[in-house]
Amino acid sequence: MKELIMVKYGEIALKGINKKTFEDMLQSNIKRRLKKLGQFGYERMQSTIYIEPLDEDSDVDEAVEALKKVFGIGAIQKCAVYPKDIETVKANLGEYLSDTLENAKTFKIEAKRADKTFPLTSPEIQQQLGDAVLDAFPNIGVDVHSPEVTVRLEVRDNGAYLSAKRITGAGGMPVGSSGKALLMLSGGIDSPAAGYMMAKRGLVVDCIHYISPPYTSNMALTKVRKLCEEMTEFCGDIMFYCVPFTEIQEAIRDNCPEEYFTVIMRRLMVKIANWFCKKDGYGAIITGESLAQVASQTLRAIGCTNAAAELPIFRPLIGMDKIEITDIARKIGTFETSILPYEDCCTVFSPKHPRTKPHLEDVLKAESAFDFEPLIEKAITGTTVTRYKYGEETVFLE
Ligand code: ATP
Ligand code: MG
Repeated sequence: MKELIMVKYGEIALKGINKKTFEDMLQSNIKRRLKKLGQFGYERMQSTIYIEPLDEDSDVDEAVEALKKVFGIGAIQKCAVYPKDIETVKANLGEYLSDTLENAKTFKIEAKRADKTFPLTSPEIQQQLGDAVLDAFPNIGVDVHSPEVTVRLEVRDNGAYLSAKRITGAGGMPVGSSGKALLMLSGGIDSPAAGYMMAKRGLVVDCIHYISPPYTSNMALTKVRKLCEEMTEFCGDIMFYCVPFTEIQEAIRDNCPEEYFTVIMRRLMVKIANWFCKKDGYGAIITGESLAQVASQTLRAIGCTNAAAELPIFRPLIGMDKIEITDIARKIGTFETSILPYEDCCTVFSPKHPRTKPHLEDVLKAESAFDFEPLIEKAITGTTVTRYKYGEETVFLE
């Protein structure tokens, strides 16, 4: 018996004349993900990609696990392929479906006949396979309205495809189909979740991180690099920009009123991110901000931060509370790393009484007390860029 994987589109299925572009992108993202898991053949028909292992070593179960993290996929189904002969399917279904049906209470059959030359109609196939399932699994019952398991048979040109398990895919759009954006990645719980959400909408997500040694440690940086590596599971390859931010923070501390430290710092971070966006072709900045979470994320403070950027700032977590954000972080596997207790540069020199409702004109006045441009240029020049590749473990030298 040959087993293959059917990948059903998510939102792509709704696209019009440009659908093929999205399909091509999804297929090449899938290929990249499965490359390390063996040789696979690909075929596309009717909003489905058929993935067939081409040698003994190509592991279908591992491939399914990897596919669960590929955006653009609506559902994943493993299926057995039999010759187009109903007797062969009936004779083999007990063995193939035993894992799924042995302990199930109810089932139904769904038959689809893409090959119209097949001698049985869909209702006839359903009837015959239903009887065969009842024979093979005496404890199961039929429920056509809300069955525990739906057994599907698709009769196609190349064979009869039998499946019973439909795994929900990651949804969203293929990474890369929406362009690329730069995520301001801190070591916290929020920003990796924000990156995940925007990758899900089809963006390539690269990361920018600001460090302030010796106030922030190498351990803190290593943690953020680890987060980057973990994010590649969903985002694919990630470019990581690491910006030396110490002198800027010291200049803020020495020259600006304390109550505006955080908002000025955030504005300067955004200015630097904006510079790299323009230089390297990113269409937006992403942050992990959520309205009212802390003083720098009030409506007014966010307004002041926004004014420092020329490009759109995407804040996918803006309307979420911490519990919802934490759930995402756990789901995507970044939570445990995020809670490691290393300081972020945001906590360096953080004011005791920050302005929670800053006015932009006051912030601009406070910021103009010092000419930050030369330090911004120096930080940009000192920025290092590393590439984190999907599926490759990083050797951390620091
Ligand atoms: P997170 O949990 O992601 O750290 P947070 O709730 O701690 O977010 P802040 O520290 O106020 O919030 O930071 C708000 C946002 O600013 C972060 O989500 C992130 O996008 C960005 N940010 C903060 N610190 C850094 C940093 N050191 N480097 C890059 N971006 C940062
Ligand atoms: Mg933080």
